[in-house]
Amino acid sequence: MSQRRPPSVKGKKRDKSDAALTNSTPVKDNFLQCLSNHSQSANPINEAVYTSSNSSFSSVLQSYIRNHRIATPNPLVIIAAKDDSHVQVTVICSKSLGLQIRIRSGSHDYDGLSYVFNVPFAILDMFNLRSIHINVADESAWVQAGASIGEVYYRIAEKSKVHGFPAGVCSTLGVGGHITGGGYGNMMRKYGLSSDNVVDAQVVDVKGRILDRKSMGEDLFCAFRGGGAASFCVILSWKIKLVAVPATVTVFEVERTVEQGAMDVVWKWQQVADKLDEDLFVRLLFKPVNGNKEGLESIWKVLTDINEDVGMTWNPYGGKMSKIPETERAFPRRAGNIFKIQLSLLTSPRTQERHFSTIVLLALVPIQMVPIKKEEYMESSISRIILTDWCV
Ligand SMILES: Cc1cc2nc3c(=O)[nH]c(=O)nc-3n(C[C@H](O)[C@H](O)[C@H](O)COP(=O)(O)OP(=O)(O)OC[C@H]3O[C@@H](n4cnc5c(N)ncnc54)[C@H](O)[C@@H]3O)c2cc1C
Repeated sequence: MSQRRPPSVKGKKRDKSDAALTNSTPVKDNFLQCLSNHSQSANPINEAVYTSSNSSFSSVLQSYIRNHRIATPNPLVIIAAKDDSHVQVTVICSKSLGLQIRIRSGSHDYDGLSYVFNVPFAILDMFNLRSIHINVADESAWVQAGASIGEVYYRIAEKSKVHGFPAGVCSTLGVGGHITGGGYGNMMRKYGLSSDNVVDAQVVDVKGRILDRKSMGEDLFCAFRGGGAASFCVILSWKIKLVAVPATVTVFEVERTVEQGAMDVVWKWQQVADKLDEDLFVRLLFKPVNGNKEGLESIWKVLTDINEDVGMTWNPYGGKMSKIPETERAFPRRAGNIFKIQLSLLTSPRTQERHFSTIVLLALVPIQMVPIKKEEYMESSISRIILTDWCV
């Protein structure tokens, strides 16, 4: 496949007819009319369109919201695309009418950017487009954007016990958003990120065309593998490269309290984390433990003072992460970085009220880290504070 043309308006020139719609009627009506005008008779879009007058609107909107901290979204329309042409039509109509869209796959965006907006908008929901085709013979798979990463792991495991795909830990992450942001997980030292293991993709560009790697060119193909995709195109599907995994994987966990020398372990870990054999992925998880406050300083003190369901994860780099030059991908800070830190706060509607103060305290952790050992370790990237619920 090289390039598929966008659906055209029957009997009319597209831009002219859409512009005419805007003059008198509200944008929502214009948008719905435009969708209908562009819909293909073989794949009518009306079955994929939800507005507030539809009884399923609320459940479609809410069922994929993961982060209860985010204010209730208020989209004008949800298009739960059932066919690639629905994505094309949505892009064409939103562009020609100036209506913003949010693209939603797994809905795990930390800030809810796939379903909230401060201007009138429509949600382009990808959850119906979730097919996965595994080809063990050529060690690849085509995966639609709406599939979860857990579904991908499951389908690969059904076909082969010695293949896998390097991606995140949380099984409900959407393939659409996860891979465009990079996608790091337990195999990143061995194979790099998810986006390093993508060999082709199908996208809808701003003109509503379906493009693949060849027809889009290498610049765009590079940009959305680590740099996020929403401002460039809509990802329809990825062709991913399967990687070799051993039939048996060894997992171990070592717990240490501060009194048992945890600080020494952390210090030593920082010397070796990115230099260990690529087959080893050893990450650190910090968690406050009740009754374990004495003797803690700096970051430990902040974490334990928060005394909530907070955690801190140090993900080691090195290995493949140091071998892919950052000029080759949109995902930066690779070689020369020892590890990446995630700060997390587990939330639920029940604990919602306490969250604001917890978030403020959590933001202090990076500041506390500066004097903890040596400042150069700060260069390893404190990239993000995760404020979210978990993989439900
Ligand atoms: C609990 C939790 C655990 C996590 N664990 C990991 C982890 O282990 N490793 C890791 O690397 N990351 C992890 N993340 C981060 C996660 O990878 C990103 O938040 C990712 O963007 C989520 O993708 P999504 O499709 O689920 O989310 P969405 O909210 O649907 O989308 C995220 C962003 O991508 C855009 N987008 C979604 N689909 C498309 C599409 N088809 N085309 C174009 N743009 C699209 C959205 O508009 C939005 O801007 C975690 C996040 C959470 C909340």
